[in-house]
Amino acid sequence: TGTDGFERYPLLLGPSPVHRLDRLTAELGGARIWAKREDLNSALAFGGNKTRKLEYLLADAIAEGADTLVSIGGVQSNHTRQVAAAAAYAGLKAVLVQESWVDWSDPGYDRVGNIQLARMLGADVRLVDAGFDIGFRQSWEQAVAEIESTGGTPYAIPAGASDHRLGGLGFANWIAELEAQEAELGVFFDTIVVCSVTGSTQAGMIAGVAASGTPRRILGIDASAAPARTREQIARIARSTATLLGVRREIAEDEILLDERYHGGTYGIPDQATLDAIHRAARVEAMITDPVYEGKSMAALLDLVARGEIGADSNVLYAHLGGQPAINGYTAVLGNPG
Ligand code: PLP
Repeated sequence: TGTDGFERYPLLLGPSPVHRLDRLTAELGGARIWAKREDLNSALAFGGNKTRKLEYLLADAIAEGADTLVSIGGVQSNHTRQVAAAAAYAGLKAVLVQESWVDWSDPGYDRVGNIQLARMLGADVRLVDAGFDIGFRQSWEQAVAEIESTGGTPYAIPAGASDHRLGGLGFANWIAELEAQEAELGVFFDTIVVCSVTGSTQAGMIAGVAASGTPRRILGIDASAAPARTREQIARIARSTATLLGVRREIAEDEILLDERYHGGTYGIPDQATLDAIHRAARVEAMITDPVYEGKSMAALLDLVARGEIGADSNVLYAHLGGQPAINGYTAVLGNPG
């Protein structure tokens, strides 16, 4: 069992760094807190969790003879920015359908951060007026059909590179990578805190744990504010990825843990707890988190450790999944004097 038999187009610099968060640990006075940094995993356009997943999809796209990657996300999607980077790096084209997933009117929201980077990377960015949905979309299918009709060979990548046969492999492999790092550091992380929206990051980790046989808790923090849909997608991708990896046993319902208390009510908009967590991580550890994803899982981490839901005897690992470019679209609530 494992990810070894699958082709990978290298996009990462190597294992992503793992380090302690000593000052945060001391302030909270409970579990020992560490981070593993997908925001520092690649040299390509700021990296992030999708870059790790895309190693497998890009190899598949090239094997199929594709010339254009087609994907979809919100206006400030980290995912589509990483698709643009992977395409540029591999010498392919990228068509990105970017929808109005977030009702947010910060000046420059559709010009700065991720969307600015996607355009700099040479992607064909198409703004579409449609609301938040992690599923398959007509606008995206139209873009695929249009490329085909003009003689191109598209490779379709769904939102978050999740609902795809190979979508869970990147983070299944992340577990194997982590196990090697744990052996070197002499530490075992019994709990991993990970932000979930389209689901294949957490699902890949769950499948990776099943493949490795060393149990640990993968605690998803919902940032979709549509947790039933996200949970269903995590369960489905965890099971299909485990099967792909040759895992014989069924993944049980109680391995799919998605905490619904920290999404703040709306995808893409930070509540006060999220803003407080972002500022605390910045001021205590100089670790930057974004208001859409990682700020929400950081709010969860701080609360769960402070209240002892993650016990004082725990070594807890915060999976930092990237996403910082989006902060440029949130000047109204972050780092400005008001
Ligand atoms: N964190 C960041 C920074 C992201 O860009 C995403 C993407 O959706 C997530 C977390 C959630 O990961 P997933 O969509 O695999 O659940």
